Amino acid sequence: KPRLRVAPSPTGDPHVGTAYVSIFDLAFARQQGGSFILRIEDTDRARFQEDSEQQLYDTLHWLGLGWDEGPDKGGPFAPYKQSERLDTYRPYVEQLIADGHAYHCWCSSERLKEMREVQQKTKQPTGYDRMCLGKTKEERAKLPGFNETPVVRMHIPDDAPLQFDDLIMGPTKAPRPDDQVILKADGFPTYHLAVVVDDHLMKITHVVRGQEWISSTPKHILLYQWLGWEAPQFAHIPLLRDEKKAKISKRKSPWAKLTWFQEQGYLPEALVNFLALQGHPPIIEGDGTERETFSFEEFSEHFAWGKINPAGAVFNLDKLLWLNGHYLRELTEQDLAQRLLPFLQRDGALPQPASLPELGRLNEIVPLIQTRINLLSEATPLVAPFYVADDALEIAEDARKQLKESAPEVLDAAIAALEPISGAIGNPDGSGREWTAARLEEALRAAIVDGLGIKPRLAFGPIRTAVSGQRISPPLFESMEILGKESTLRRLKALRA
Ligand code: ATP
Ligand code: GLU
Repeated sequence: KPRLRVAPSPTGDPHVGTAYVSIFDLAFARQQGGSFILRIEDTDRARFQEDSEQQLYDTLHWLGLGWDEGPDKGGPFAPYKQSERLDTYRPYVEQLIADGHAYHCWCSSERLKEMREVQQKTKQPTGYDRMCLGKTKEERAKLPGFNETPVVRMHIPDDAPLQFDDLIMGPTKAPRPDDQVILKADGFPTYHLAVVVDDHLMKITHVVRGQEWISSTPKHILLYQWLGWEAPQFAHIPLLRDEKKAKISKRKSPWAKLTWFQEQGYLPEALVNFLALQGHPPIIEGDGTERETFSFEEFSEHFAWGKINPAGAVFNLDKLLWLNGHYLRELTEQDLAQRLLPFLQRDGALPQPASLPELGRLNEIVPLIQTRINLLSEATPLVAPFYVADDALEIAEDARKQLKESAPEVLDAAIAALEPISGAIGNPDGSGREWTAARLEEALRAAIVDGLGIKPRLAFGPIRTAVSGQRISPPLFESMEILGKESTLRRLKALRA
């Protein structure tokens, strides 16, 4: 049974690339009845960030990309966090040194910096110049740029294998590595050693990661050979790119961060569907038609490594927005209301906690806005007017500006037409109720369109502005029904005054 893992480093906001890779890991694991493992690679203490690990759990859970084994879940190969496995790596370092595959290096960082500068100036190949190779500590100490605590480096042979078979890229060649550090002066392994030891001990069968790691793969293959282990299969996923074809990065694009999608109000199912499509073709139906929207279960049924496009896709935010709108409209009204609530509370449209009547009103509003938003965060301006006190409703500048000369006349006619309609709630089954959207529309049309002879397009603008404070609002008559008679009339009179 295949075992796949995602191995993020807790170095800041979780990267969208981590979710991207996880989707392919998990699709294959589920398809094959295998396991998906989360391992935290926190050996880079300089870049370590405290909150990052919890954010990784939260964002991957939010996306529904759950793991079978991991630091928070345990499993047969625990611990799943590299900083808790330091003792595991040391014997392998000793073994590699004893076998002549690795050596101590006492070069100070100042010396390495100078070495690199000289190499660059004189256009020599860059990489460690092996000053320490074959020397004892005493011999090395006599030379300049000596550091008391050594690191350990791989001794890359001249005939190191540089080619490997990739499940996505096919036969792939990487550049020759230099003598890579595998154990740092602080006693922590580097990524290269830790990833190989852990993937082996955790019985990982498929290493799936971004194409940026292709250049590291020959180092890993050597370590597998030296330690006498069978290497896993490799699948290097093409990187997500921005419109300039550059790899998207958190420094340049806000959408490289997973938390950005949460804040904007994207739905996790839309983002997962979108990311799957960035690398993998749509599902082909029996009749040959393509389908771009699918559940994760459907995706994993259709998934194949060979279908992944080896060229990196341009991150298409318009497509994501379209998909998000699609998923948003598929939600039940109740589900949508629940997902909107935290956004409305965040934006101050609803108090936290919201009262039962406030929540009840939200359930009435949701059907009016479901087709009008593509992001959860877009609901706030549409919903907020239903919750403000009538005398606190602000009239937006653009809405006020477009009021025509006929506005006072329209408002007067509307008030007169609505006053006689009873605002009583009526019976639970809806009977005996007069203040309904249909009745309000009928009365207002009769009074303004027929009575005043104003075209429907212009007739309701002032009423909409009075009721919502906006030029664009959810359907007007339904909104007035929800607001109720008292509130509606107060708002109409306020704008008239
Ligand atoms: P940045 O340049 O955005 O800071 P990074 O590579 O330093 O990126 P990390 O947090 O180290 O960011 O990356 C997390 C994971 O996301 C890594 O596994 C990396 O392979 C993957 N990744 C980074 N950039 C991309 C990308 N453009 N497309 C797909 N995966 C990516
Ligand atoms: N820790 C590496 C990262 O942050 C893992 C790379 C790999 O999957 O081998 O991406």
